[in-house]
Amino acid sequence: MTSETSDDAVGFADLALADELVGALAALGYEEPTPIQRAAIPPLLEGRDLLGQAATGTGKTAAFALPLLHRLGKGAGSAPPRALVLVPTRELATQVAEAVHRYGRDLGIRTLPIYGGAPIVRQLKALERGVDVVVATPGRALDHIRRRTLRPATFETIILDEADEMLDMGFAEDIEAILSDTSADRQTVLFSATMPPRIARIVGAHLTDPVRIQLGGERHAPGEAPKVRQRAFVVPRAHKPAALGRVLDHEEPTATIVFCRTRDEVDTLTETLNGRGYRAEALHGGMSQDQRTRAIGRLKAGTTELLVATDVAARGLDVDSLSHVVNYDVPAAPEAYVHRIGRVGRAGREGVAITFAQPREHRMLKAIERVTRQPIAIEKLPTLADLRVRRLEATREALAEALSGDGADLDAYRVVVESLAEEHGLEEVALAAVRMAHQAAGRDAEDEPDIPDFTAPRERPRDRDRPERPGRPDRPGRPARPDHADHGDRRPPRRRDGAPAEGMTRLFVGAGRERGIRPQDLVGAIANEAGLNGRQIGAIEIADRFSLVEVPEAAADHVVSALRGRSIKGKKTTVRRERFGGPGARRRS
Ligand code: AMP
Repeated sequence: MTSETSDDAVGFADLALADELVGALAALGYEEPTPIQRAAIPPLLEGRDLLGQAATGTGKTAAFALPLLHRLGKGAGSAPPRALVLVPTRELATQVAEAVHRYGRDLGIRTLPIYGGAPIVRQLKALERGVDVVVATPGRALDHIRRRTLRPATFETIILDEADEMLDMGFAEDIEAILSDTSADRQTVLFSATMPPRIARIVGAHLTDPVRIQLGGERHAPGEAPKVRQRAFVVPRAHKPAALGRVLDHEEPTATIVFCRTRDEVDTLTETLNGRGYRAEALHGGMSQDQRTRAIGRLKAGTTELLVATDVAARGLDVDSLSHVVNYDVPAAPEAYVHRIGRVGRAGREGVAITFAQPREHRMLKAIERVTRQPIAIEKLPTLADLRVRRLEATREALAEALSGDGADLDAYRVVVESLAEEHGLEEVALAAVRMAHQAAGRDAEDEPDIPDFTAPRERPRDRDRPERPGRPDRPGRPARPDHADHGDRRPPRRRDGAPAEGMTRLFVGAGRERGIRPQDLVGAIANEAGLNGRQIGAIEIADRFSLVEVPEAAADHVVSALRGRSIKGKKTTVRRERFGGPGARRRS
């Protein structure tokens, strides 16, 4: 893939996209295409089929959405949908539909997300009014096809997004059923983070002479990538600002660059950080050269401690005092990561690179490790207790400094201390004063929100400890799939000692076979409500009246609270940690 600095630098304007699209991208603050976008957009505009190996976070949604929108042209009134995007989860269906809508707004393209669990009547009404692009989960798309409210023959383009994840969730048969009914001259695009043989089979059967794109092909020799201590935290998007604050407070860097993907994100994060009491400045391509030079100057002089920047604006930046580089998002390509962390740890100095990844972005970290051949340690966020200790230490240091300074400075306060000391005692007065100083410096962590910890085990537990991924449902008239992780159909998916796989915890779900629960219902509910991806979910057992699901220990409490009060298969269901030996937990119904 093209590296970020190779200044054949193709911009969005060079990609021959419709003006409305280029305008939308500029308004969103995208400064340049990501590598997958550079590689995929031209062949897709020509109408070629495409097989792209790219994970979440690479910019793959825009890579397929922009050429799709360009080819659709202006919205087409009440005609039937011309494009179908298949995605594994409800969350992704909404996210992709929103992205397509944002990019295609000036073209008047209408997009509809379709997924299970949402009222079908509303979807039917929207389809009647006219939709250009449908973004659907495979099961619900097939429901509509069977009701004839979607007709596969009208799709000129079909995109399979996160294909490996869809197969993992048991959608292989649905995908086959949908593709086999579509018109032969359609354009088919498949994106997948991994390319197992099952994906190759779909590609062989349904894509015609596809262009193949693989990200992160270039390897850096171990000595080539900068020597920097690399760490990562897995944090859901909504908690990132608080998580960044915690890490900054714990690390106390001298000067830091925080990288964001877009100008808008840079502006928003700069505001948030200033609101939280940091001295942060923005640096992006929307600022004049003069403004940028001044911002960099202030970081160098130490007036600013944090520079929040896009890749383009920070290219070539060299700041001696820089101790930390923070990737507020996982960069879109491993090469961009290497360039970013290269800003720190120059000339033999020690540097730290910290990356915030969302739970779905684990794979991007792996891809980066493969390219740099250096490990990225996934760590737990500093806890509130860690922070309290660190912040008290900071207050102690500030006081120690004040005490060792010019004593005359303090004399003005002696009258206050002496008058209070008579009534309260010297120690109490000192304690109250320290608390006031601590709070005034914004170091009080008492009312900070909790941040769910997603530090999942890096490797999947060994295969012999786990069942295969859940298969498709046992449909009426079809035998259950042999890889069905259903207790009774196969060897129970547990370790010989009966404990969950390493790093995993078993959850009890109060619904089972009698309520029609299938493994994919549980995977879907956990993926949709708690934001885990299919691969993070371990063994599943389904008994008559309850089910057991393994999830990463670190995410267990988050999953339980995310599912609390939610319905599974239309009914509210108890979800809790499995209680060993508790009534019902070990009983086989
Ligand atoms: P995706 O890999 O499609 O999930 O995209 C990851 C994130 O990157 C999304 O938040 C997009 O809005 C953002 N993004 C996509 N393309 C670009 C680009 N060229 N410049 C900046 N951000 C982008």
